[in-house]
Amino acid sequence: MSVSGEFNCFGLCLRLSDFAPFVALFVVVSIALLAASMMLKRPKQRLMTFVSAQILSLLAVVATFYLMKCDEMLTIYIYLGYVIISTVLIFGVLRYYDRILIRRLDAKPAGSIMEWMQDFVDGLVTARVYYFDSAIPRAFAAGRSIFVSIGLLEMLDDNELKAVLAHEAWHIRQNTQTPYLKQLALMTFSSSSESELEYRADRFASEIAGSAALTSARNKVDKVFI
Ligand SMILES: [Zn+2]
Repeated sequence: MSVSGEFNCFGLCLRLSDFAPFVALFVVVSIALLAASMMLKRPKQRLMTFVSAQILSLLAVVATFYLMKCDEMLTIYIYLGYVIISTVLIFGVLRYYDRILIRRLDAKPAGSIMEWMQDFVDGLVTARVYYFDSAIPRAFAAGRSIFVSIGLLEMLDDNELKAVLAHEAWHIRQNTQTPYLKQLALMTFSSSSESELEYRADRFASEIAGSAALTSARNKVDKVFI
């Protein structure tokens, strides 16, 4: 049976089943919650609404699979494969991706050239700071590591660097606190927007290093720290 044939079968099973209204309700409420989570202002409310939307859409998926009476279950295998691969990515590969980067960029501990940088980050999150040889000013976080280029170190003063490091430290905190949330988002094909994460990372950076330092860092190297 083809995937599209199987989807017709899902539709048929749903229509014939008593659970159809519940599945429809899960889907409708989930979409409404997802829309609401994009409009809410307070981060905590946004997050709670977002998680509720994800749980409801997961319930809709599970209920549909439960109702499935067709013989071949290709879509279930595809979905399970997707869940397994995303789990491996989130809890395996992404967590150790920084080790690959350290080797590829030939990155060295930043504490060896500017001791305060590691001390500063130690106060925010458990992470190592590395520098790598590139004239292009760049900074990013991966796994439990923050990477800054030599170009960035040369361009920014200490306060601006602190703003950039705090921004990246927030990403690491976020990533290590919410692996299950990320997993849930992947399983339900929904995710919180990149710009929202960048906004929150910037807000944390201005709390730690001051908004003036963040703004001047952004002005100097706009779009190169993400
Ligand atoms: Zn960022």
